[in-house]
Amino acid sequence: MSGGFEAVREIGRRIHLLTHINALLGWDQEVYMPDGAIAERAEQLSYIEGLVYDETTSKDLGSALRELGASEEAPRGKKGLGDIESAHVRILFNMYRKQTKLPKQLVMETAKETSIAQNKWVEARKKKDYKLFEPHLARLLELTAEKIEKLGWKEHPYDVLLDDFEPGATTATVTPVFARLREGLKDLVQQIGAAEQVDAGFVTRRYDRTKQEQFGRNVLEAIGYDFNRGRLDISAHPFTTTLGADDVRITTRYNENFFNTGIFGIIHEAGHALYELGFSDEIRGGILADGTSLGIHESQSRMWENMIGRGFSFWKRYYAKLQSLFPEPLQDISLEQFYRGINKVEPSFIRVEADEVTYNLHIILRFELELALITGELSPANLPDAWNSKFADFFGITPPNDAEGVLQDIHWSMGAYGYFPTYALGNLYSAQFFTAMKKAMPDIEEKIEAGTFTEILRWLREHIHASGSIYTAGEVCRNISGSDLDPGYFLKYIDKKFGAVYGLSGR
Ligand code: ZN
Repeated sequence: MSGGFEAVREIGRRIHLLTHINALLGWDQEVYMPDGAIAERAEQLSYIEGLVYDETTSKDLGSALRELGASEEAPRGKKGLGDIESAHVRILFNMYRKQTKLPKQLVMETAKETSIAQNKWVEARKKKDYKLFEPHLARLLELTAEKIEKLGWKEHPYDVLLDDFEPGATTATVTPVFARLREGLKDLVQQIGAAEQVDAGFVTRRYDRTKQEQFGRNVLEAIGYDFNRGRLDISAHPFTTTLGADDVRITTRYNENFFNTGIFGIIHEAGHALYELGFSDEIRGGILADGTSLGIHESQSRMWENMIGRGFSFWKRYYAKLQSLFPEPLQDISLEQFYRGINKVEPSFIRVEADEVTYNLHIILRFELELALITGELSPANLPDAWNSKFADFFGITPPNDAEGVLQDIHWSMGAYGYFPTYALGNLYSAQFFTAMKKAMPDIEEKIEAGTFTEILRWLREHIHASGSIYTAGEVCRNISGSDLDPGYFLKYIDKKFGAVYGLSGR
């Protein structure tokens, strides 16, 4: 091993430590911090970010990367490097390349405008008035265009943005995947719309919050989330955060009048946490101990949430227990009614509340609008109209106001363009991986029904978690399934599941 690699690994280790320190400050802010403390907390966070910036732009890093052969033409370094060495080079060179190409002025201006835009977005959403947000969106898009130009692009300007969240994905690879997904989904949504509807009235009965938590903790223990290396707390928006190799925390929120929010939120975040808790000792404490992409991360949360947690086998195991905890709202609901109710499909306005079938349409809509905004085909002034007409086309309904339409998500106010596609990619990966796992473990449904998740977790560890960021998303996918991402797996999965839920013929 060369001295160059030792230097790169050491800088990666320091960045990793700083990221975890930032996570602790952020977790505290969301869970415990008194509101009045925000001013200095913001300074603390930006100070740590400044230290990360210094590390990723340092001359030491630049020369160590050059020693390992990293360049625009060889972003993984010279030939002959091992998997771990070249992964270090790939990740740190990408950070170094981006940070050193972006003028400090642009970075600072973007940080400032983002914080103003977020404030304005909160106000605009509250007042259901897009016009209040529009000039800030316009400004952020200008800054984004500048960023794209500074970083440079080959095939499509949007590729630069995708790379921040889903390294390796490009507009050219994502577009046909989403096009095929969209056709398949529209067809299924239509058939479900014409079928006899599912009664899910019981989900909005009253569910005591303490008992929801008790049930959630039992499920977390059963699926292998280790409370000695994690915590479950409450926050306004559920999230998972990694504070250390043995400290991966999750949060959730409970709605006493909507059953799905609490428990499926918990299982979702646990899926993220199990990934972060499963990195191998080989990469522990270093820059590779991280999810390899947001899409792969989301594949883990969605697999546990939907394929396991919203599956019939799971509730065969847990429904009696749930019923005994909630005798009032559930006494007249059979296991079959419950299963169909939690899987009800219905076009709705809000992405985060969408069912498994319509969810991806929400993402494709955002992806198409983002592309048009970035290429300039669509102007911020025309965005709400474009949103509403696309929405009517995809779902057959029109949002009653901007708050339930174009203003519902925080992402565009944070300048996070290129983020949304990762949600749908996660759903697609989860189906492809689950199919491979089922092949290796034909009795997987029996295992879920028996409440034994050890082998499932072991399989995920071995094929996905342990390697962290050593392999890219595309490599992980090919290693597991022998092929690139293919939406056919997901379409087959939802066709089968929802064909049965809705009694569709020929499925
Ligand atoms: Zn997630």
